[in-house]
Amino acid sequence: MPAASAADLLTWYDRHRRALPWRALPGVRPDPYRVWLSEVMLQQTTVTAVKPYFEKFLTLFPTVQALAAAPEEAVMSAWAGLGYYSRARNLHACAKAVAAAGRFPDTEEGLRKLPGIGAYTAGAIAAIAFDRPAAAVDGNVERVMTRLHAIETPLPAARAQIRLLTQGMVPHDRPGDFAQAVMDLGATLCTPKRPACALCPWMRPCRARSEGLQDTFPRKVKKEKGTLRKGAAFVALRAGDEAVLLRTRPSEGLLGAMAEPPGSPWLPDYDPAKGLLDAPLDARWKRLPGVVKHGFTHFPLELTVFFARVAAGTVAPDGMRFTPREKLDEEPLPGAMKKVLAHALAGPVPVAAVAPPPVREPDLATPPEPEPVKRRGPIPKPPSLRPSDLGRVVKKAPKPR
Ligand code: SF4
Repeated sequence: MPAASAADLLTWYDRHRRALPWRALPGVRPDPYRVWLSEVMLQQTTVTAVKPYFEKFLTLFPTVQALAAAPEEAVMSAWAGLGYYSRARNLHACAKAVAAAGRFPDTEEGLRKLPGIGAYTAGAIAAIAFDRPAAAVDGNVERVMTRLHAIETPLPAARAQIRLLTQGMVPHDRPGDFAQAVMDLGATLCTPKRPACALCPWMRPCRARSEGLQDTFPRKVKKEKGTLRKGAAFVALRAGDEAVLLRTRPSEGLLGAMAEPPGSPWLPDYDPAKGLLDAPLDARWKRLPGVVKHGFTHFPLELTVFFARVAAGTVAPDGMRFTPREKLDEEPLPGAMKKVLAHALAGPVPVAAVAPPPVREPDLATPPEPEPVKRRGPIPKPPSLRPSDLGRVVKKAPKPR
């Protein structure tokens, strides 16, 4: 069996390279800012999802200095919807470090010292932006290499071996192109299912293909999905200015510094029937039918949503704010919270209250069953959330009884 050669792959790449917004044209020196921005965005996210965000960031923050100087809220807001929000915080911190230093470090070691830059990203930036002979091993590259060499060790234990094998193939004359070529091969031909081996420049040296086992690599240890957590979210809509009650999550931890409608803790044994004990203010809360489901990396979440219209002029509790519906797009709302708002606001909602409700304790007596839909009037303004967000709401709502 012949050895896989970088030259064969580069010949294929010169003909079939993907045109990507962050990729420099042949012969053009790559811009480290664009390379870094795209690599951070592409961590755990698809090319298709990243493209509009990449364009938006370049428009809002055309240079690393502009990004460094932007308020954190503006960065988080531009990132909202891309997920893994610690990346956005690290992106901002990294931009500040680079702006303070005056330029990006041009070695893997230097890059690794920056916030949010791990082994893969450092290798990718060093190779693509600075032509350093670095290995950039992401999921695509892992798949290609485990197949090419038929590596039986399951991931993640096989990573050190994959890295060594990849590093050993990096050509000194075109390391950046090699890194991008392996990524492209993994994304376009050596796909997770039914790889197009007949078109592959490494078809002959590929061990997995020769054994007809290409679909079975990389070997993986089965992941635990995590324990289901439950909680309640409270969407209060203020009459008059149609503003929604929001708060900002603590800056550390899951969804740090992101916006959300107030809610309960998320716990495996949370009882939504007692959800009103966690209500942020006194109002006629109605439990909406169904639940909002969201999958985080380590656990699935189910939120029961309570909705209330509150009187015009209602003051937000300490640490919270009312944001007009048409400005919700400017809030750094993560995907899970967009689903909550869509669940509460996208459909018909109760007619606006015009008089302040009497002061009273939370309405614990309100039965948890869904309110009949026909009693709700149309909402006066269209939802301000993007249709794509609204369409992603996943609910299996029980039929009103
Ligand atoms: S021959 Fe098939 S399995 Fe092997 S690297 Fe190429 S596309 Fe992947």
